[in-house]
Amino acid sequence: MGLYRDEAIVLRTQKLGEADRIITLLTRGNGRVRAVAKGVRRTTSRFGSRLEPFTYVDLQLAEGRSLDVVTQAETLAPYASNVGSDYEKYTAGTVMLETAERLVVEEKEPALQQFLLLVGALRTLSADDRNPSQVLDSFLLRSLAVAGYAPTFDSCARCGREGPHRCFNPAAGGMLCGGCRLPGSASPAPETVELLAALLAGDWAVAEASAPRHRKEANGFVSAYLSWHLERKLKSLSHVER
Ligand SMILES: [Zn+2]
Repeated sequence: MGLYRDEAIVLRTQKLGEADRIITLLTRGNGRVRAVAKGVRRTTSRFGSRLEPFTYVDLQLAEGRSLDVVTQAETLAPYASNVGSDYEKYTAGTVMLETAERLVVEEKEPALQQFLLLVGALRTLSADDRNPSQVLDSFLLRSLAVAGYAPTFDSCARCGREGPHRCFNPAAGGMLCGGCRLPGSASPAPETVELLAALLAGDWAVAEASAPRHRKEANGFVSAYLSWHLERKLKSLSHVER
């Protein structure tokens, strides 16, 4: 049985038997990994609270026949304590963890960009210097882009004609010009489209200068875009106050 080390964000935990848990991880080197943490629900567990969702950990794992087994865990950053103590951060962070798990489909397929995006977003969320809802929207647009679903906010998503355009259609992949407009498209304010492009690019100067009504409108479009691509609305998204 081989041993390996990796860094990971804990995405989810499930009870297993009397005292164990199955831990779903997004790792730096091995993509999504599910592993057993033995005895972790006992108060005397040597893992303590290091294997709770949001925690950034350095792990040693033993390869198993079906699931790997966590043999060592050291905390690199205790995002769980910071994110978990604030409702707005907690709900935003929960959507991030669920989205990461849904977008990284294959187990043990390296997904370094998704890992780095998630670590960066949790660090920003816990540092308190940005609006949690905007950190979430930026993370969602960028992780969808990494997964191959980059939305277009400047040129037309169908014919490529230079914008700005007025219609947004999640199924078509973003903004549409007048000629490509599809029935049922929405018409966001130009400032909202500019904000969405800034969130995708990580342009915080533009994002933070935006007005509340454009932020709210952008939230709705990001949710619609995410839902379309994940096929069903994320359970946790319904708890985020929009
Ligand atoms: Zn077009």
